Amino acid sequence: MAFPLQGDDAARRTPPSEISNPYWVAFSKSCAELINIPVANNDLPTDHKWLELLAGNSLETEFHQFSNPLATAYSGHQFGVWAGQLGDGRAILLGDIASQELQLKGAGKTAYSRMGDGRAVLRSSIREFLCSEAMHALGIPTSRALAVVGSKMSVMRETRETAAVCARVAPSFIRIGHFEHYSSLENTGRLKELADDLIEKHYPECHNSIEPYLELFKSMSNKNATLVAKWQAVGFCHGVLNSDNISVLGLTIDYGPFGFLDQFQIDHICNHSDHSGRYAFHRQPQIMHWNMACLASAMLPLVELNHSSVEAQELLKSALESFPIIFAEEWQKGFRDKLGLQTAEEMDIRLIERLLQLMHDSGVDYTSLFRSLGDIDKDAAVVNISLRDHFIDRGTIDLWLQDYLARLSRESVDDETRQALMNTVNPKYVLRNHLAQRAIELAQQDDFSEVHKLLKILSNPFGEQPEHHQYSQAPADHVRAIPVSCSS
Ligand code: AMP
Ligand code: MG
Repeated sequence: MAFPLQGDDAARRTPPSEISNPYWVAFSKSCAELINIPVANNDLPTDHKWLELLAGNSLETEFHQFSNPLATAYSGHQFGVWAGQLGDGRAILLGDIASQELQLKGAGKTAYSRMGDGRAVLRSSIREFLCSEAMHALGIPTSRALAVVGSKMSVMRETRETAAVCARVAPSFIRIGHFEHYSSLENTGRLKELADDLIEKHYPECHNSIEPYLELFKSMSNKNATLVAKWQAVGFCHGVLNSDNISVLGLTIDYGPFGFLDQFQIDHICNHSDHSGRYAFHRQPQIMHWNMACLASAMLPLVELNHSSVEAQELLKSALESFPIIFAEEWQKGFRDKLGLQTAEEMDIRLIERLLQLMHDSGVDYTSLFRSLGDIDKDAAVVNISLRDHFIDRGTIDLWLQDYLARLSRESVDDETRQALMNTVNPKYVLRNHLAQRAIELAQQDDFSEVHKLLKILSNPFGEQPEHHQYSQAPADHVRAIPVSCSS
């Protein structure tokens, strides 16, 4: 069974609620391949029963592995404040398929819906679908998205919208919040069951340790440190880094008001509801570390099984200290790769930081700038490098370019090889907000062609795809600041 904890206090059997007259909005063939779903020439499942299943229209009986749909309990810290019990308020775990879990988001009310309607709107489902698949193609750990199923059923948000269900896939949807839940209930038995199951299924290397729970904590923390370093390198802002949105496997999960950086602003806030900027782009590493501190305190009773309370606290505290070290290593490696540096020199960090500062000062488009860095010829004269035109202060970018060219001259690879390597880490295409917005507006008029087109383009983010060049361009001023908030 997918979820390790049995019993009503942990998970409730919850069949999805029906939506009327479901239809395909989007389907990911690549995700279907991951879980061995046969796909026909029209890029949809050969078996039409999948549409009904993914709509949540009570067809679990046709698929025996999905006969025990569940909603699970978890708790968490939201915007830095303990929020108590939350749980799967609109996500229903159907079960396992090909070693992955299949979950329907927006499939109706559960025991944990609180005041919510258990639904998701078309807009947010398309955003989650496209971004999950785009992040996967970028090589960033993430839950996957199999499909979006739409319906004309109406849902009330700020205005009336229509409902959709996003079918998502991951090896596990367990969150830091699951640990916090049992810790807050002082239920060490449940905590242990959760940790033992995670070790068995996902962290088998911790088995051999004399401190399996401490090792498990370190592994989870390191994975999330690596993840956030990858976000920073690609310019991804998650938007709601509450502890209930943090995966125990270091996956990007729960796509809400996320955004990719367009005009670079180090303190960019992508979530319209985040008034204090707690989850601003530059704070993500520090916030992830904070979430790992929540995890450490939730796991304290497990480490106390072998140690005094004081010892256990010290052990977890020092384990937590490896987070900034792992983050810095991954961040430096990520940015060296982005700059095309194969070797490491101490001055590289300063070179990277100076570039980011200059990009911030001039509000340079993040994705395009890094992509065009690959075009630089190491023997070029600074004044001939067109990239300098993106910067307001030519004097300082010229100085930076001089230092960068000097640094490149100490690398042994030739320009062509370096440029090819840089194009495998600096994407040409990311899910910019204005692109998602255009696809959503068309989808709201029943035209899903743009969603399909974006899926195709974003599945190959490092490819040149000259026929889609305009999708790599920075947004025009009038579509730059589209507000995105938690309510979806
Ligand atoms: P999120 O900010 O989307 O991660 O959601 C935070 C919590 O609110 C989770 O427990 C969700 O399941 C719950 N939630 C969000 N939207 C709804 C909704 N429309 N109906 C029920 N629960 C919801
Ligand atoms: Mg969530």
